[in-house]
Amino acid sequence: MRTAMADIPLTSRAFETGLTLEEMAFGCERTVSYEAPIDCVNCEGTGRDDGGTCAFCDGAGTIVELRRSTITLPGPLDDGEVLELQAKGVPGTLAVTVRELPHAVFEHDGENLRTSLDVPAKILASGGLVNVETLDDDRELEVLPGSGEGSIVPLRGHGFPSKEDPERRGDLLVKLRASPETTLVEREARRWGAGLTAVGTAVALVGIGIMVAALVIRSNATVCESTETTVCMVVIDGERSEAADSAETQRSEQNGAAALGVAIGMAVMGVGGWITTRGIREMGRDRIEQRRA
Ligand SMILES: [Zn+2]
Repeated sequence: MRTAMADIPLTSRAFETGLTLEEMAFGCERTVSYEAPIDCVNCEGTGRDDGGTCAFCDGAGTIVELRRSTITLPGPLDDGEVLELQAKGVPGTLAVTVRELPHAVFEHDGENLRTSLDVPAKILASGGLVNVETLDDDRELEVLPGSGEGSIVPLRGHGFPSKEDPERRGDLLVKLRASPETTLVEREARRWGAGLTAVGTAVALVGIGIMVAALVIRSNATVCESTETTVCMVVIDGERSEAADSAETQRSEQNGAAALGVAIGMAVMGVGGWITTRGIREMGRDRIEQRRA
C-alpha cells in the first residue's frame, strides 16, 4: 500500500515512523532520503579543472547527492515494534520503530477492532440491516430485533490480521448506540409535514363549512308560496326577499345553488384531505441517517 508521505530524511540509522491502522494491518512503504558523496561531476573527482581548483566542489573532488530509497514495512505490525530493514543504496540496516497513529473510526484491541455505530432506535427495537465501515470496505450488519443500546455485534473476520497468520483476522466489534431520536433532516421533515397537515385540515374544514352552509341555506330557504300577487319570496334566516317568479323556478334555483355549494365544499374538502395526507406522509417518512460518531 503506497501512501503520499513526505520522504523520511535519514539522519540516523534508527528512527521512528507513524503508521495508520490500515498501514499497521496491511503493511506499507516509505521513502527515505539520504545524502551520498559522489565524484564531482565537474572535475570527475580530481578537485581541479582548467582554471586550477574546481569551483564546483571547492577542490574536494566529491559532492553530495540527495538519493531516495524505498523501505517496505510488512504488516501486520505492533505498535512499538522495531523493524530491521535494508534500504537499497544504504549500507547496513535501519532500525525502524513503528508507531500506530490514532484512528478516527476504529480502536485497536489486540486482533479485534472496536467501533461504535449510531443506529435509529426503530432498528434497535425491530431489527434490520445497517451499513458499517470496516478496515477494508463497507459491510452490512444485521441488527437483531430487541438489540438494546450498547449491544455489541461482532463482524467476524473484519478485525486486525494475526501476527502468526495474516490470513486470519480478528473481529470487528460494533457497539450499537441509539441515534438521537430524530436527525435534523427528520425534524425538518416533521415540521414541514406538521405544517402541511395543519393547512390541509384547515382547508378540509373550510370545505365542510361550505357544504354545511349550502345545505343550511337550502333548508332555511322557504320556498315561495303562491300568494295573491304570485310573488315568490325567499326567506333566509327570517329575512324575506323577492326572488323568483314561480315556486318551481325558485325551488330549482335553490337546489342548483345548494348542489353547487355542496360540490365546491366537497372539492375544497378533497384538496384539504390530499394536503393532509401528504403532510402525514411527510411526517412519517423513513429517514434513516447513519452517522458515526
Ligand atoms: Zn570538482
